[in-house]
Amino acid sequence: MASRDGNGWVRCELGHRHWGRFGAAGLLAYVLDGPLLLQRRTWWSHHGGTWGLPGGARDSHESALAAALREAAEECGVPPDVVRQRAVLTDDHGGWSYTSVLAQAAEPFPVVSDDDESDEVAWVPAGQIEGLDLHPGLAAQWARLGRELSPVTIIVDGANVVGSRPDGWWRDRPGAAARLRAELMPLPSHGITELPDGMAIPAPAADLPLDGRRRGRGEQVSGQTRMRWLPEVVLVVEGAARAAAAAADDGPVQLVAAPGSGDDTIAGLAARTPGRRIVVTADRELRQRCTAAGAAVAGPGWLLGLL
Ligand SMILES: [Zn+2]
Repeated sequence: MASRDGNGWVRCELGHRHWGRFGAAGLLAYVLDGPLLLQRRTWWSHHGGTWGLPGGARDSHESALAAALREAAEECGVPPDVVRQRAVLTDDHGGWSYTSVLAQAAEPFPVVSDDDESDEVAWVPAGQIEGLDLHPGLAAQWARLGRELSPVTIIVDGANVVGSRPDGWWRDRPGAAARLRAELMPLPSHGITELPDGMAIPAPAADLPLDGRRRGRGEQVSGQTRMRWLPEVVLVVEGAARAAAAAADDGPVQLVAAPGSGDDTIAGLAARTPGRRIVVTADRELRQRCTAAGAAVAGPGWLLGLL
């Protein structure tokens, strides 16, 4: 049985009083180009009556994802396994932090308010969020969160990345592809903390919290924020390296054997994959094709620097 040792008030280094001895976490469930799930907090709760993310105090043993999912299940009936974690935004106040877990759902799923901590639960179109009376925490982060409701996929040009390191790959091409895949395996769960140049989302023109007027002039509402994206990773192999695909087990890195030219397969993935795509290749012509398809591009050095 979980000990639920996170319940309790703390004062952060910015001088706020917060619920959650080990910080708190909330679930931002969204449908790509669709609505997101919000909860209106019951009147007796802290900032009662405002709309925010389902979530609550983290226990000492608990990851942000586990806490966000547990609270979302309790408060809104979010079933397990209907959302996929895509990114986390941590707002660190010093001595207390709030982690927003951005998680994608294939489509809106039925939710129900527990009528205890939550009065109402709804799927809200992203364009209507700013018109709501938002919880100050969500209001402070919405300018950032609203631009992150899109998964990140890294599409790796296997031949190009393998070829960028003179490690004897030419003696065993399937083996070299399998080695690269093994190196990429931790990436979807460890995530990345920087996007390649040209893909970073520009800062909003006015980075002021929506509710600044209610919190009083000059008060700092949010702390240090850190973003971590948890990407899908697709490794495309061609030619002799395709034998690696037949031998590949299930795992967090998908291995795609190009039926013909690897470039055609990669350009096709760059065009068709939903959300944000990063194609990793140094091949100039392929970079142009992928950029034209709306993807960002990065060189092998960027990817290898993450491993
Ligand atoms: Zn604080």
